[in-house]
Amino acid sequence: MPKRHGVELAPISEEAKEWIALSCRKQAEDDFYFGAICKREHNFGLSGFSLRRRDNDSCVECFRLAGHRFYIENRESHAESQRKYKEANRELIKQRKKEYEIRNRDFLQSEERQKRIKQQQKEWHERNRDSILQKSRERYWANREPVVYTYIELADSGVEHDLKKPELYFLGKLCPQGHDFQSTGYSLKYKSSHRCVECTKENKRTDRTDRSNRGRDVNKNN
Ligand SMILES: [Zn+2]
Ligand SMILES: [Zn+2]
Repeated sequence: MPKRHGVELAPISEEAKEWIALSCRKQAEDDFYFGAICKREHNFGLSGFSLRRRDNDSCVECFRLAGHRFYIENRESHAESQRKYKEANRELIKQRKKEYEIRNRDFLQSEERQKRIKQQQKEWHERNRDSILQKSRERYWANREPVVYTYIELADSGVEHDLKKPELYFLGKLCPQGHDFQSTGYSLKYKSSHRCVECTKENKRTDRTDRSNRGRDVNKNN
């Protein structure tokens, strides 16, 4: 087994790698090794070794406990010294804060970051495409113009009609062209497309004239 400062080393386990990833985000696997068990017998993940930091050989668990103890013991004096430091270095702190803000702003506006955000947004949209579509569909139907009443109900009310399949139509808000169906104050619309029946007829008519005109133009040019 390899040694370091006379301490036996063992290869780092998957569990320890996971622990490092979770608890010491800025540190890499290379900053730790498995060494002889510490005097407080902190056994890492039943490996029989202590997980240690390479920079000072301290056991991770001891280091953590020491930090914790130090914090408990010195909470008040630490707060006091912090207060004194802040008072004495007001300008310096202000200056640092400003520098930090500038650095942060530069970072936030950097091209690389913008690119990364765009990429992430794109990926998010791709992942959630179905639910986005579903939601926008729901919103669309929730905000629909109110269906006034069905064509069949209208027929019962005694309004004249000559449509062969009334179940395919409904009466909705007046269309932008003001096509009023049989003086009801509403437009007659297709259930399938929600388009005004009159507008659709007109569109078909203009389409047809366009097409025949186009044909004539081609002939003329020839
Ligand atoms: Zn320890
Ligand atoms: Zn219309």
